[in-house]
Amino acid sequence: MSTIFSKIIEGELPCFKVYEDNIVLAFLDINPIHPGHTLVVPKKPFIDGIETDPEILAHIIKIGQKIAIVQKETLKCGGVNFLMSNGAAAGQEVFHTHLHVIPRFEGDGVFNSVEHGKYKDGEAEGLAVTIADALSNN
Ligand code: 5GP
Repeated sequence: MSTIFSKIIEGELPCFKVYEDNIVLAFLDINPIHPGHTLVVPKKPFIDGIETDPEILAHIIKIGQKIAIVQKETLKCGGVNFLMSNGAAAGQEVFHTHLHVIPRFEGDGVFNSVEHGKYKDGEAEGLAVTIADALSNN
């Protein structure tokens, strides 16, 4: 499936590039949470992180880390979020794997509306066993 990111990678659409190698292209998000908000995108068009070759996923994170270090130096941000939405239910809008590298500032309020829940008695133990068992079979 061709997405807007494939067109950017092919040079058919413009972007503000910050980094490129044989595996990834990194460029500024067109609607940044903060200026400098960057997307790291594999050149191969995997749909999302779950479908991405694990070695390529590791490379995406490695480059995201380098970008985060430079964001802290150049933008003087206090922190950085790595964010990858996998699937429409997780909020993904462009179905070509991408890591958001988002500069953050103390008290900026981004993501403040997220509410965390609590487990009922015994629920966490049961879920941990379910997930651990599935992992040991994979
Ligand atoms: P998602 O919601 O899929 O995790 O994030 C998609 C991101 O792609 C959004 O933050 C959006 O601003 C960005 N985006 C969408 N279209 C373009 C585009 O044409 N150019 C750039 N640079 N970013 C885009």
